Amino acid sequence: MTEAYKIIDHVYDTVVVGAGGSGLRATMGSAEAGLKTACITKVFPTRSHTVAAQGGIAASLGNNSPDHWSWHMYDTVKGSDWLGDQDAIEYMVREAPAAVYELEHAGVPFSRNDNGTIYQRPFGGHMQNMGEGPPVQRTCAAADRTGHAMLHALYQQSLKYDSDFFIEYFAIDLIMEDGACRGVIALCMEDGSIHRFRSHAVVLATGGSGRCYFSATSAHTCTGDGGAMVLRAGLPLQDMEFVQFHPTGIYGAGVLITEGARGEGGYLTNSEGERFMERYAPSAKDLASRDVVSRSMAAEIREGRGVGKENDHIYLHLDHIDEKVLAERLPGITETGKIFAGVDLTRQPLPVVPTVHYNMGGIPCNYHGQVVTIKDGNPDTVVPGLYAVGEAACVSVHGANRLGSNSLIDLVVFGRATGHHLRDTIKPGSPHKALPKDSADLALSRLDHFRNAKGGSPTAQIRMDMQKTMQKHAAVFRDTQLLQEGTALMQQVNKRMEDVHVTDRSLIWNTDLIETLELDNLLSQAVCTIESAHARKESRGAHMHEDYPERDDANFMKHTVSWFEGWGGKGGKVTLDYRPVHEYTLSDEVEYIKPKKRVY
Ligand SMILES: Cc1cc2nc3c(=O)[nH]c(=O)nc-3n(C[C@H](O)[C@H](O)[C@H](O)COP(=O)(O)OP(=O)(O)OC[C@H]3O[C@@H](n4cnc5c(N)ncnc54)[C@H](O)[C@@H]3O)c2cc1C
Repeated sequence: MTEAYKIIDHVYDTVVVGAGGSGLRATMGSAEAGLKTACITKVFPTRSHTVAAQGGIAASLGNNSPDHWSWHMYDTVKGSDWLGDQDAIEYMVREAPAAVYELEHAGVPFSRNDNGTIYQRPFGGHMQNMGEGPPVQRTCAAADRTGHAMLHALYQQSLKYDSDFFIEYFAIDLIMEDGACRGVIALCMEDGSIHRFRSHAVVLATGGSGRCYFSATSAHTCTGDGGAMVLRAGLPLQDMEFVQFHPTGIYGAGVLITEGARGEGGYLTNSEGERFMERYAPSAKDLASRDVVSRSMAAEIREGRGVGKENDHIYLHLDHIDEKVLAERLPGITETGKIFAGVDLTRQPLPVVPTVHYNMGGIPCNYHGQVVTIKDGNPDTVVPGLYAVGEAACVSVHGANRLGSNSLIDLVVFGRATGHHLRDTIKPGSPHKALPKDSADLALSRLDHFRNAKGGSPTAQIRMDMQKTMQKHAAVFRDTQLLQEGTALMQQVNKRMEDVHVTDRSLIWNTDLIETLELDNLLSQAVCTIESAHARKESRGAHMHEDYPERDDANFMKHTVSWFEGWGGKGGKVTLDYRPVHEYTLSDEVEYIKPKKRVY
């Protein structure tokens, strides 16, 4: 029986869920267009995971080496292992320089060259001259605190516009009617009140779902809430099998050491002191694409050449770099090394291991931010009223593997594009029709269900089982047996949610209840991830399937689309389908980049 909840109603033109880089940029764009805009966020805006981004943001400014947007496009397509949609990639790389200058004018304190231009560093997979030349310096940085600087500048800017922030509100579910999104239901965690937001558009900017795994660089808040809301609305997610492992998470702690560390000259060694990346990627070496470096590290460890007592990690050397350069360009990680590894990196190598870092997959959408689904055979059917941006979305510009520093640029470019689309399609203050009677039913029945969940399994225990299962069965190397066992195990873990135990019924600051809602969100995505991986019988980008070690363009150059049935441990059935990759560009200034073998 659902308890009678008192609901507080709000009416907006646009509601953005999420206040990371992408959500703030979309909020600004919407408010700037004169649309009445709300931004709902479960954490204070400047605590969103974007704050943790270290290395930088990619744009072909050409300040420190020659560059061109078409080179950035080539590298992104190659990095994506040809799974990225090239119309969206063209859009992103062409808009990137203007987006960086916009951030500069918004107050981001970028590091500088002597001549006053923005300093740019090399990053993995970013090369000159259509992949032929040496590494390019394309990544703009504010020391190793780029995300921090960006998020604070964007939050300050967004306060200039007339938008309403609902801070520490937890969005539970979308309001859907006849296949269109009409708003969202949220819980105010501070006073336990329930809020119904009615709007012409909902923008999901809820970030990634890295916490499906045991060891992740992502914040504990990265629980893919937006993706799960989409699944419960009967819509699919895309390319969930593509999970990026960052080569350099600190061993044991999972905390990130930016790729900028290798950009500034850092290198990896095995137990024999060998710089093994020279063998795997003769030309790009330690600056090869992330999937390539992570796989090489995992292979070294597997073949017995890992370092440490258990031979289970790798060393990252920065001890040869001038201390002044370290202090100026990488001050944050010098401190991180000390705190999380007890290492003085000016003298000792850092123990590192590949760690879950980014979700290439997410809510399928086009380059205007509009969410799409497959309907009546049309793979690009737009879902009215629903948008997705940032890591929650799958545009898809990152395809099977994202290049470092391409996420921050994705946030601002597509956050802005979404703002433009809202401006061009919604008339400020236009009337709303009445909401359906059952508009809050799904959200409230879930809330009610979990508040009263008195089974035998604590939330933390089910979460641990999920994270360990995913870490073991859907990591850097996958094979048929691992995936087969893993899908069965994940179904069992998901079922255990029927037996979850939530300690108390309070709606006010009830961490256990919120973590249970988050776990329910994670579970649906973990199941979609492992089942999508099991069905992809090839190796592409971050998905390395050892029984099918080659990329198979004839059968698998397509996006996986996954639907998930149920919540709270009920259902659990995944349905898979595929969408074609967009094998075309936006303009005739650049041609479709044809697939090639990917070597670095
Ligand atoms: C440690 C680290 C370093 C990185 N470094 C770089 C880098 O140097 N360069 C680069 O390009 N990329 C980097 N990345 C990736 C990049 O930072 C992220 O992909 C990006 O910041 C995600 O931004 P976002 O706007 O999509 O979401 P986030 O910044 O994750 O924000 C999500 C927002 O959604 C809100 N939210 C979520 N669920 C709910 C809910 N149920 N109700 C209400 N609100 C909700 C949260 O409160 C938050 O405001 C890094 C990632 C990590 C983890």
